[in-house]
Amino acid sequence: MSFMSFMSFSSFNPGTRNPEPGTRICTPILSPTLGDARQAIAQAQPNADWIELRLDFLEDLDPGQSRLTVETLVAECSKPVIITFRPKEQGGKREISLDERLAFWHQVLTLPDVQFDLEADFVPMLVEKLGAAALPWDKIIASWHEFEHTPEDLPALIEQRFPREAATIKLAVRTASIRDLMALFTAFQLLAAQSRQRFILIGMGAPGAPTRILGPALGSQVTYSAAPDGNLSAPGQFSAADLRQVYHIHRLSTATKVTGLIGKPVGHSLSPHMHNAAFEALGLDWVYLPFEVQPQSTDLADFVQFLVHPQSRQVPFQSMGFSVTIPHKQAVIPLLDSLTTIAEAVGAVNTLLIAGNRLIGHNTDVDGAMIPLEKRFKLAGSRVAVLGAGGSAHALVYGLVQRQAQVTLFARNQEKAQALADKFGTNCRSLEDFRGHQFEGAVNCTPIGMHGTANPATMPVTPQQLSGLHWVYDLIYRPRLTPLLAVAQAQRIATLDGLEMLVEQARLQFAAWTGQEIPFDLMFDAAQKG
Ligand code: NAP
Repeated sequence: MSFMSFMSFSSFNPGTRNPEPGTRICTPILSPTLGDARQAIAQAQPNADWIELRLDFLEDLDPGQSRLTVETLVAECSKPVIITFRPKEQGGKREISLDERLAFWHQVLTLPDVQFDLEADFVPMLVEKLGAAALPWDKIIASWHEFEHTPEDLPALIEQRFPREAATIKLAVRTASIRDLMALFTAFQLLAAQSRQRFILIGMGAPGAPTRILGPALGSQVTYSAAPDGNLSAPGQFSAADLRQVYHIHRLSTATKVTGLIGKPVGHSLSPHMHNAAFEALGLDWVYLPFEVQPQSTDLADFVQFLVHPQSRQVPFQSMGFSVTIPHKQAVIPLLDSLTTIAEAVGAVNTLLIAGNRLIGHNTDVDGAMIPLEKRFKLAGSRVAVLGAGGSAHALVYGLVQRQAQVTLFARNQEKAQALADKFGTNCRSLEDFRGHQFEGAVNCTPIGMHGTANPATMPVTPQQLSGLHWVYDLIYRPRLTPLLAVAQAQRIATLDGLEMLVEQARLQFAAWTGQEIPFDLMFDAAQKG
């Protein structure tokens, strides 16, 4: 399958046609009353480059006073304004009859100094009503929304659905897969290659999220942020503050190297905060994005083929690697050319490295976990209990055995635990058998206590079982003080939470991709703010 039927991305030269390349973030105002809208505009303006007034959200809009209402709100805006009055069937807030739409635009279309977002299939109706000459074509954004799916033939849709006279065309489609994301990257290329109209192109939903960040760099006139109160006008929107301060979207271009996190879920990851802060601090033209890659589909194979592997990638940007997280750390291995020694030994990959024509799997979780631990506690000869037998337990057991600790594994699933214990020559028992006084340290490699899990108030073992330990290490970093660590502290047991590990594994990835060191505190601070 090729997404490259009409042109090579190597010759991709996106819109120098974007009239104001410095203005990239459009923030919608989705308020129910005039008062709320005024407040939201004031809140939006520090981070927004454009304001979109969504008049379909305004519950107190008096149809006879539409023009006056819009003028009142426009007067509040110090940024360029887009006016939208979207009916429900096109993704708008409420039902709006055709007569109401025609009457609204009849009043509003003659306003100066604003742009108008008109649904593409509504434009012919307006032309019929008002006459083509009455439409301010140079200020019209003709929009088309597909909330259900990404249509198969985007180029044909673009060719057929939009009025040629409109200055800008806007296409927003629902994405569900990496193939949908690739179809959008191809559409960016198509739209950037035509010089007739400006364009706005958006992939809605989590898989399309990278288009919300890279869009303007690929020629889109703007990208749409969430509203200032956090409400969304379409799925997958980022806050304007994050677009500006985490992703630095005003400096992104087709020369920017793209990296990011492959996993599911990835939406609340701290990794974009850490890596983007590091790129910014070192003045590197890189960006780190969340890439939602579904399990149980062809997504992972598609991602590696079309976005990563240097011999088959088909995207309009360069990359040196990616991070990999749950649930793909093992599944990605067969798709790679080789593994580093440590990734091979652990049997899991959290880092992809592009080296010439080869794609290499690496693992920075082991050293990321060990660095903060070794700084505090002696490991060689120590008896250490590892709780859990999943991905992170593999990294921890390997790292601890390498450092000559005497490791015992405690897990609920004895079959899994035995396989892991056999792999690294350790013993395994059930969680109920754990007794703290038999060990110097214990590491929690289960998600029990993690924010968002079924029962975050619980612990992997009872408070009595902890008694006698010297230290407890919990890999969980949200929250930093888990019930396990709180109970350990109450028993005067030394504790270490998972945030330092998160930072150290990211620092090691950063160094592997860029060849540069980043100070610990810089990434740690960014992770804490995220
Ligand atoms: P994983 O591969 O899913 O493994 C989780 C392990 O915990 C499995 O052995 C699982 O047992 C066990 N488990 C889950 N719920 C349990 C319960 N209620 N009772 C007993 N055992 C239970 O996950 P992972 O990747 O190892 O991650 C584990 C934790 O470490 C997560 O909270 C993650 O956020 C954290 N972590 C932190 C970092 C960091 O950088 N700080 C890095 C990696 C992971 P079954 O196999 O029987 O399901």
